[in-house]
Amino acid sequence: MNSINADLHCHSVLSDGTLTPEQLAMRAKSNGVELWSLTDHDLVSSQARAEESARNLGMKYLGGVEISVSWLGQTIHIVGLGINPYDQRLIEGLRKTRDGRMQRGQEIARQLAAVGILGAYEGATAFAGNPELLSRTHFARFLVEKGVCTDINAVFTQFLIEGKPGYVGHVWATLAEAVTWIKDAGGVAIIAHPGRYRLTDLEKDSLYLAFLQAGGLGIEVVTGSHSPEQYVEYAKVATQYGFYASRGSDFHDPTESRTDLGVLPPLATHLKPVWSLFQL
Ligand code: AMP
Ligand code: MN
Ligand code: MN
Ligand code: MN
Repeated sequence: MNSINADLHCHSVLSDGTLTPEQLAMRAKSNGVELWSLTDHDLVSSQARAEESARNLGMKYLGGVEISVSWLGQTIHIVGLGINPYDQRLIEGLRKTRDGRMQRGQEIARQLAAVGILGAYEGATAFAGNPELLSRTHFARFLVEKGVCTDINAVFTQFLIEGKPGYVGHVWATLAEAVTWIKDAGGVAIIAHPGRYRLTDLEKDSLYLAFLQAGGLGIEVVTGSHSPEQYVEYAKVATQYGFYASRGSDFHDPTESRTDLGVLPPLATHLKPVWSLFQL
């Protein structure tokens, strides 16, 4: 069961990836993915295309989404798997969560202009495949195109993060809202890339407990965002808190992403894979 090639986290051009759902499905298939989920940020409008493509290629599919959440002043990402993308409360909740991204984008551009980088709003929106989802990733691509930074990772050390130009705090969904929308849409809530959050051990513990209390069930253990040491660290967390474990590349783009679709180590055999919750 743990050896299935499952990739349950990636992004299409409908959010901040660069490939279409169809291109992602083909890439996943040719990399040997057997169970796939497209988890675009704060939207489910890409789900029908992803599911149909997966089915045509003979891959199993779980409906997916990655919801932006504000928790203790930080942004936490919650992945929903096995969701019904036609669930009205989920669709409406995500619409509310996306609200304000354009205004935030304008404020990001104002801050960049203040340090001499002009035209960022127009530049970023030109990279956005969906006017409803203007992301920091699109600003990052603009800064690379402009030659301000050499690559996306460099952008996220000098710009767009707290304390640097182009950082605009934003209030996303609450943890309880995100988990409830996912559960009510028939899905399972997973904490995305837990190793990426700058939280103390005490804060992490309270995040996991609040998440469990809200009805969350899993965490990502093997993800493109974790180092091999973190695979071990978060396998321990999964065991300690009774979480189901997930695996996903968080693939965005062939040149930007360090982990390709489906190219990750398997989950350790002692972990409960999140896909054991589904009739596949
Ligand atoms: P947003 O939802 O607009 O705040 O944008 C968040 C997105 O920025 C994430 O989904 C990532 O794709 C990207 N991102 C954030 N931090 C980094 C980083 N350190 N390196 C590369 N991409 C990042
Ligand atoms: Mn992203
Ligand atoms: Mn994320
Ligand atoms: Mn992601």
